[in-house]
Order: sequence, then C-alpha cells, then structure tokens
Amino acid sequence: MIIAVDGPAASGKGTIAKALADHYGLPLLDTGLLYRAVGVQVLRHHGDPANAADALAACVFEDDLLADSMLRTAEAGDAASKASVHPAVRAALLERQRSFANQPGGAILDGRDIGTVIAPQADAKLYVTASARVRAERRIKEFLANPDEAAILAYQKELEARDERDMNRADAPLRPADDALLLDTSDLTIDAAVQQAIRLVETRISRQQ
Ligand code: C5P
Repeated sequence: MIIAVDGPAASGKGTIAKALADHYGLPLLDTGLLYRAVGVQVLRHHGDPANAADALAACVFEDDLLADSMLRTAEAGDAASKASVHPAVRAALLERQRSFANQPGGAILDGRDIGTVIAPQADAKLYVTASARVRAERRIKEFLANPDEAAILAYQKELEARDERDMNRADAPLRPADDALLLDTSDLTIDAAVQQAIRLVETRISRQQ
C-alpha cells in the first residue's frame, strides 16, 4: 500500500503522515527533508539556491545531513523552496523517492508532488491544507513561546511567498491530485485531524477491495 500526503508548509501533513505510518506500520519518507538538505548544502557552500548550477551541485549529500537540526529552520525551508524550482534538482531527487515508494510492503511519503508525480499510482492520496494564518501561528510557536501579532504576520507573509513559489513553478507544482482526498485542518486538533485522515484513507482503501 502506498499513501501520498501532500500539502503546503505547516498544514499538518508531516504529523498526519507520521501518525498514518504508525497506524499502518509503514515506512515514512519526509521528502521535504531532501529538498531542505539541498538548500542547506547550497548555503553552506556560499551558493545561491535560486541558481540552477549551484542547486544541482548540492544534490549529492551524506545521509547524516538529513538529521541536522539546521534543516528544521525557516532559512532552510526558504532555500529548499528556491532550489526545488529547478527541474534538474527535482530529477536528481526523483529516483530515491520513487524507489522508497515502490519498496515491497508499501510506504508513506509526504511532500508536494507525491500524488501527482512521485507516486501517481498511490492507493490513497491526501491533500492537507489549513489557512495561512493558522499555519503561520502553528509554525512560529515552534520557535517562539509567545509570538506577537507582528511576528505572526511577518511569518505568514514568508509562508505565503513559499506557497506561491511552490504552486506556480513549471515543474511539479504543489496542487491536489485529481483523485486526492482533501483535509482542511484549520479548525481541528491534532488528534481530530489524525482520526479524520485515517477515516479518509480507510474509505479509499475499502472501496478498492
Ligand atoms: O515540506 P517542507 O516544508 O519541509 O518542504 C520544504 C520545501 O521543499 C517546500 O517549500 C518545497 O518547495 C520543497 N518540496 C518540494 N517537493 C516535495 C517536498 C518539498 O518541492 N515533494
């Protein structure tokens, strides 16, 4: 069984993908980490992630980098988004994601183009969203205990710029697959979102049996 979980930053897709992986006992790949690793490596080499040659040169990295805490920063997310626009970067990371998806026994992958490009044959596809305001509040609270209104709005602008870039690039833009099940987590607790995600996947799978 392959489950694809796509959606914009801080929509809850990572938490949902992890919960689904635990629920079904399937291996999980957070594909955003691959793009973040590229972004961080470009910055460390004093390159520009918006430059295709700099970004492509950063596509070979040690697996240790995937566990580096620097990958979790907003700076890494921004660099990842700029680097991921380049078709050559996406092509360089494609095979690793496809072979993870196609491993015997199945897999769960979360990202932006899993249901559309990496695993269009997935048994269940979720597209997880939430309002930009809610996503900004959620994400900023991971960095700041009591963010003020100005900090939330500034972060919301950054997220919206990243969404805009991810949704409007020519190669593998962020969009729901035609057969994706939509899940808006804006007004849901984590538990409720996870329960709903499991219900949606169950509905889809039971229809195929
Ligand atoms: O999911 P995460 O926020 O870690 O992803 C960081 C960036 O990597 C995204 O903004 C997006 O530009 C890129 N990405 C992508 N395709 C994926 C996963 C992530 O383009 N499958």
